[in-house]
Amino acid sequence: MTESVARLKVLSIVGVGRSGTTVLASILGEIDGFASVGELRWLWVQGVAQQRPCGCGEPPSQCPVWSPVITQALSAAGKDQPPWNARQIIASQQELARKPNVQRVLRSANGGQEDWAPLQMMRAVTGAAVRAFADVTGARVVVDTSKRPQDAALFAALDGVEHYVLHIVRDPRAVVHSWRRAKSFSVAGEKRTMGTRRLPSTVWRWITNSVSAEILRSQLPQSRWLHMRYEDFAQRPRVAVDEILTLLGDLGDPPFTNAHTVMLHPNHIVAGNPSRFTTGSVEIRADEGWRDHMPRRDQWLVELATLPLMLRYRYANPRLFQESMPRRR
Ligand SMILES: [Zn+2]
Repeated sequence: MTESVARLKVLSIVGVGRSGTTVLASILGEIDGFASVGELRWLWVQGVAQQRPCGCGEPPSQCPVWSPVITQALSAAGKDQPPWNARQIIASQQELARKPNVQRVLRSANGGQEDWAPLQMMRAVTGAAVRAFADVTGARVVVDTSKRPQDAALFAALDGVEHYVLHIVRDPRAVVHSWRRAKSFSVAGEKRTMGTRRLPSTVWRWITNSVSAEILRSQLPQSRWLHMRYEDFAQRPRVAVDEILTLLGDLGDPPFTNAHTVMLHPNHIVAGNPSRFTTGSVEIRADEGWRDHMPRRDQWLVELATLPLMLRYRYANPRLFQESMPRRR
């Protein structure tokens, strides 16, 4: 190996579900030299234990991309060690996901040595998986949409990986409204539906994800971080994708057929929103249905719960908010 060999770049997309993260990853995955891995954090539970289909329609153990990646990741324990099994990896993931541990994982993103076995195992497994995925697909840039900031923290600490974060935020009122409606997709002739979530659960996830993202941001160099609003992406998708390519320092050619339309092909995205199975010509438009269909009282509840963050992300200004509050006279 010579010094001119380019290092692998990994882009973590961080944000809550229904914020356009899956379609964005699909668009980036179409660029020559880019590959979208999907939500890598679900590889072990959904992909290996439950055998849910990859974007190509095969279960990961039968998929030409994932079966060698899984073998490599399991042998990340080291040459003289017996390979890990999926059950051990899932147990480590569960340990890192425990509430008191999440902060520690987020703060480990700066790459410091951590004497903590589950974290060491997940760093080794994640690193082996992403490198094997890049080898099999020939990618120089791998896009992960695990979405939780703590999963991005694992990538940030990997040796030999140039890591970037795209933080996508969507108006919490729109996210709440979107999660109230079931989303249906047809996968290999079978109809699948994404479940719904209630207002308090969605608001809690939105706040937790945003706060965790801010903690992660404080651990990483600013030159590796891009904050983007879903609404800005949906309004000018091509401009938004160019901004991401600038962050990565990679002048790829995204699959736009016009300013709002992309051409998507079958992929090997391993888990995530069922829209990963969407192929063909896809038009990107902001879904602003909540403005007409969400009860004003619910909008106000969401605003009340998320106000400091809504202000931070420019979804409200203090004067407008005062005007919209129910008045007591
Ligand atoms: Zn596949």
